[in-house]
Amino acid sequence: MAAGIAIVVAGHGRHYLVEDAQGRRHLGHPRGKKSEAVVGDRVRFEVTGDASAVIEAIEPRRNLLFRQDAWKTKAFAANLDRLLVWLAVDPSFGESQLARALIAAESAGIATTVVLNKTDLAGHAEQAARLGPYRAMGYEVVELSLKTRRDAAQERLAPLLKGATTLVLGPSGAGKSSLINALLPDAGAQVGEISRALNSGRHTTTSSQWYWLDREHGSALIDSPGFQSFGLQHVEPASLVACMPDLRAHAGDCRFYNCTHRREPGCAVVSAVQQGAISESRWRIYRELLGEHDATRDEGPRRA
Ligand code: GDP
Ligand code: ZN
Repeated sequence: MAAGIAIVVAGHGRHYLVEDAQGRRHLGHPRGKKSEAVVGDRVRFEVTGDASAVIEAIEPRRNLLFRQDAWKTKAFAANLDRLLVWLAVDPSFGESQLARALIAAESAGIATTVVLNKTDLAGHAEQAARLGPYRAMGYEVVELSLKTRRDAAQERLAPLLKGATTLVLGPSGAGKSSLINALLPDAGAQVGEISRALNSGRHTTTSSQWYWLDREHGSALIDSPGFQSFGLQHVEPASLVACMPDLRAHAGDCRFYNCTHRREPGCAVVSAVQQGAISESRWRIYRELLGEHDATRDEGPRRA
């Protein structure tokens, strides 16, 4: 029987679509009860029948991007080279969601690029200004309009995506499907194949999906829903600042080594906020995240 290493390209409950080194796809099921594999995982499999396989084990991961609230953990994908946070001028994005995605990526050691799409719309300057602090703290921000310049995706993003595995995350309506269609002429076919294989209706919207960007299978894009309610329970309060470059730049100058940067005397983060070196909204988001940790602690452990 054939066996080897395959990439998880889609998953739905205990059903997985895995692709072997020859590019053949198999419907895979985990050997045990648990289904812990996520899109992007390399798994050891054994073929059991015509286009079906058993997933024996998950290979060690380079990284894993996930969100976690008090009740559950949801993985977006594993083994990523880059996170692309996909935003638009309209619908306007929530800065808290953006900040949370960036913190999750920092915490997992994944590079991030922010895209602002729909620069053709009124309100462009205002939305671009909201990203100013993110540019200043070192994130690359790409502004484009897929509507007026359809080749913008190829021109501006293809070099970034080349030879890499990239996860795209963003609110609905921002143009993620337009991006996928612009980059992959056969996107519809790839989506259809996954849905048929997993028998999950016309669209598998609940989980991440892997798309090859090139014939050589060197570059991949993973589309994932779930930009809302981005819980960060897995990022401990003590490591939060390390995942926020603008706060991190000042936190070493606080009077107390264990300063929480809320209202301690001699807090360098607070004075940076007062002097405008850190934006008010970033400090508010930081305190919001600390508050979510306090809330779970007050209510006692909830983890099963
Ligand atoms: P998704 O929900 O993120 O997948 O977004 P879609 O790709 O379906 O796009 C949502 C809407 O925005 C569609 O009507 C697109 O035609 C439109 N859209 C996408 N890119 C642009 C753009 O650059 N400018 C404008 N004005 N509209 C765009
Ligand atoms: Zn401080």
